[in-house]
Amino acid sequence: MSAPELAARFEQEFGAVPDGVWQAPGRVNLIGEHTDYNDGFVLPFAIDKTARVAIKVRADPMVRLLSTYGDQGTFSTAIDSLEPDSAKGWTKYPLGVIWALQQRGIAVPGMDLLLDSTVPLGAGLSSSHAIECAVISALNDLTGAGLEAEDMVLTTQRAENEFVGAPTGIMDQSASLRGSKGHAVFLDCRDQGVELVPFDAESAGLVMLVIDTKVSHSHADGGYASRRASCELGARILGVKALRDVQVADLPRAKSLLDEVTYRRVRHVVTENSRVLQTVELLAGAGPGAIGELLDASHASMRDDFEISCPELDLAVETARTNGAIGARMTGGGFGGAAIALTPVAVEQQVRAAVVRAFSEAGYAAPEIFTVTPAAGALRLS
Ligand code: ADP
Ligand code: MG
Repeated sequence: MSAPELAARFEQEFGAVPDGVWQAPGRVNLIGEHTDYNDGFVLPFAIDKTARVAIKVRADPMVRLLSTYGDQGTFSTAIDSLEPDSAKGWTKYPLGVIWALQQRGIAVPGMDLLLDSTVPLGAGLSSSHAIECAVISALNDLTGAGLEAEDMVLTTQRAENEFVGAPTGIMDQSASLRGSKGHAVFLDCRDQGVELVPFDAESAGLVMLVIDTKVSHSHADGGYASRRASCELGARILGVKALRDVQVADLPRAKSLLDEVTYRRVRHVVTENSRVLQTVELLAGAGPGAIGELLDASHASMRDDFEISCPELDLAVETARTNGAIGARMTGGGFGGAAIALTPVAVEQQVRAAVVRAFSEAGYAAPEIFTVTPAAGALRLS
């Protein structure tokens, strides 16, 4: 819905004109997987799919929340009695942001809020952070809190970690809040340092395809926890604060000190950090057409060393590659979710058709395939 359409719908639902409309995008991680919690580097970009919220401050301390998604009705709660783990369904995202702002000592007024989002749910594009970032941008303006982007990132992280109960890092919010059209967000997860890197696939005659496999394997949560534990073990044995402090040149020493599995986990993180740095360098120089091999190497490392891919993701990546994509990799935490394929415009249709055919032949459910472009971060629309 456009901002005027959303405002009109708000007026219909809540009987008054909203104070404003804000939007924040979902994100795709170009490269840098499972590096975030190792104090490492990631390179996500904000996408042209966004969550929009229309909000009007209320005179009383009530919050009323409504989403255009599904038929869930309006949810109401008192703003002063929010408790972690108490909120239901999607309301935990906006309420988590309100709660986290309150924890910072910011007085948040009651409000009516209408959400409309084009970020697909659960496809690994971070629809949840898009909501949180739209809400925090709005409340930062409406309360006059004056938070910097870094503070908003940490506040939404607290909302996700403590209120929603999801152990997520800072990548998604950083991309959503700090992204810029035609750029990727080079983020140092150790100190939140951000550098915008030109990533204009379109001018290079390329499109970024997202292939959502629609599968989510049940060992995802356990797999994530055990990978984190391996990384912590590796860092401890190697005597570093985090695997970020291990370089590619240190790998032979790591091999002599670590058991075989821990060594492969460590090698993924160390080489992935190096691939992020190389990608940034290539994007600043030769451009998007030069990063294909790094995307492929990233996928191989996740498949073989970190062991977080799955047959559906491998099939998506391999099929895209053999049909003309210049590089492809699974993106996100793994064990399902989406792959990305950087594809010359001329073979886009061929790649799409081939992936659909391959999934059908393998007996997998039909994937959803769409393009994304690097877009602006959170902003106020009206
Ligand atoms: P991801 O962030 O990767 O998309 P999550 O499981 O973290 O996956 O977040 C998905 C959840 O976000 C959904 O289950 C739903 O609660 C919420 N959500 C996302 N978009 C909307 C929407 N438009 N309306 C209501 N809830 C939404
Ligand atoms: Mg999420």
